This record gives sequence, structure tokens and C-alpha cells, in this order.
Amino acid sequence: MVGSIIDGKQHAINLRERIKIATDNLISKYGITPGLAVVLVGTDPASEIYVRNKGIQTKEAGMESLEFRLPEDTSEEKLLKNVKDLNENQSVNGILVQFPVPEHMSQQRIIETILPSKDVDGLHPVNSGYLASGLKGMVPCTPQGSALLIKETLGDLSGLHAVVLGRSNLVGKPIAQLLLKENCTVTVCHSRTKNLKEVCLSADILVAAVGIPELVKGDWISPGTTIIDVGINRLDAPEKGPGKTKLVGDVDYNGAIKNASSITPVPGGVGPMTIACLLLNTLIATCEQNNIEFSKLGF
Ligand code: NAP
Repeated sequence: MVGSIIDGKQHAINLRERIKIATDNLISKYGITPGLAVVLVGTDPASEIYVRNKGIQTKEAGMESLEFRLPEDTSEEKLLKNVKDLNENQSVNGILVQFPVPEHMSQQRIIETILPSKDVDGLHPVNSGYLASGLKGMVPCTPQGSALLIKETLGDLSGLHAVVLGRSNLVGKPIAQLLLKENCTVTVCHSRTKNLKEVCLSADILVAAVGIPELVKGDWISPGTTIIDVGINRLDAPEKGPGKTKLVGDVDYNGAIKNASSITPVPGGVGPMTIACLLLNTLIATCEQNNIEFSKLGF
């Protein structure tokens, strides 16, 4: 039996529609428009695209979008001053510094300079601490989007064995925490894990976030597994023409779909959920900062 495709694009459209309705309610009931500030240092083409898309979707959701573009040679001190100004700015509810930043800057110092209450990327140690403790806080967007796709696909996750490939602070660890919160039995794998194929074969849910193109093969998947492929890898695609490229995930999609019960494609799976969850975090942060109950917005 061939597995079904988890359409992340459609899930993200549905989520953004609900966010728009809740944002409209926030504006009409309380006169508050959520504001999201995105800071981009340098001119990395992929980051430029992400930032542009974030701006467009922020405005579509009825929120205020502020963009700060700084040259590549900006000093870390100047960037941190910019972040501190945004911390103070009452019309800014969420702050995101687009990573990667140039090598002369410390990503960790930047993360720790953003006020935890405005940290819509969910990377501040205060927020990762809340998540690890099972408490309310800002949850990183890609893990949050992945967990939503899993829940919308499977419903109750209690007792299911979730195998997470990757232990980064950005993706692997927070996904593992979220699935633990949903009462999964969670196994986290990394570059030193032995018998990776056998561990994958024991999964009810397999989340791949390693950054290695098509690492997970079709015969690593037991029948009925739900697969969330977080990986985004750009490969040369001479078959499409000279100089052309294509995106692939960390899972061999064509091999895996033969055994999986459902799988996210790349592109069009987890990726679109990331910005939708950024908007959700911005809305939640706005409510928290203004002592408004999120549940009253009809979300
Ligand atoms: P990362 O920081 O490089 O972490 C990769 C993780 O994979 C590490 O924990 C590493 O283990 C583990 N790993 C490496 N080789 C492995 C192997 N052979 N077997 C098992 N585990 C292995 O990457 P990341 O930031 O988490 O991102 C992972 C992927 O997700 C990338 O493709 C990235 O582009 C993608 N991504 C997508 C989105 C989205 O919006 N869809 C967002 C963020 C990231 P060690 O800890 O032992 O080194």
C-alpha cells in the first residue's frame, strides 16, 4: 500500500486563515495590531527569500511587518543595539534575527539579547527551558509546525514510538520535547547512534532532521510509519537542464512512501508550516504582553 502525502502547504494555508481571523478579532476588540520585526544582516540569497516571504505573509495575516536590513560588515555591537531598541519598542511584539549571521557575530549572544517574551523563534534559553520543563513558552517554529502536522494526521499520539533523527537546538531537541509532551515514547538519534536502520524500523513516527540528502532509505521504514521529513537539501539536477538544482529531504521519498502510512514531501511539507507558526507565535506573544487571553480570540 502506498502512503498518503501530508500536504504541509494546505495545512499552512488553513492555519494562516485561522491566525488572520484571530488577528482581526484582536484588532477589533482590543485595538492592538501585532508587530513582527525581522532583522537581516548581509545579502544571503536564501535568507533574502525567507525574509521577503515572512514580510508578505505577516501583512496578509493582518499584522505589522518591520524589516531591518543591515550590511554584512555591521558590528555585533550595532546589531545587539538594534535588538535592544526593538525590545523597548512597544509596537514590536515579536523579534526574529534571520540566521545564519556573518561569522564575526555570536548567534548565541544575539539569541540571548532578545527578550524571551518577544522571542518568536523560541530559541532563548528561557524558552527552551520552559519547553524542556513542559511549561508554556515560545516554541521554535519548525518543530511546532512538525508537531502540528503529526497531530493533525494521527490525532492522539499517546504511547506511540517517535524516533527523531537529529538533536539540534533548532529542530531535533524541541521536536523530541513536543512529542514527549504528547505522551510519545521518544528516541533521539544523532551522528553517533548505532544501528540507525533498526531504530528507524521500530518507529511509529519518524522525524528526520539531519541535513543529509535521502539518508533514510525505503527499507528503513516499517509499514504504517508516519514520516515527517524536515530536511531541506539543495542538489544539482542536470536532468532538469544545465545549472538547474532541486530540493530533496533527508528521506528517500520514493522509497519510503511505499511503506509509510503518510509522509511529508520536500518541498511542500514542513517548510510552509514554519512561517505559519512564526505568525502564531507573534499573535500569542502579543496577547501575553497585553494580558489578553488567547482563547478569547476565537482561534
Ligand atoms: P544541524 O544543526 O546540522 O543538526 C543535524 C543533526 O543531525 C545533528 O544532531 C547531527 O548529530 C545529526 N546527524 C548528522 N549526521 C547524522 C547521521 N548520519 N545519522 C544520524 N544523525 C545525524 O541541522 P538542523 O538545523 O537541525 O537542520 C536539520 C535539517 O532540517 C537541515 O536539512 C535543515 O536545512 C532543515 N531545516 C528545515 C527547516 C524547515 O523550515 N523545513 C527549518 C530548519 C532546518 P550530532 O549532534 O551528533 O552532530
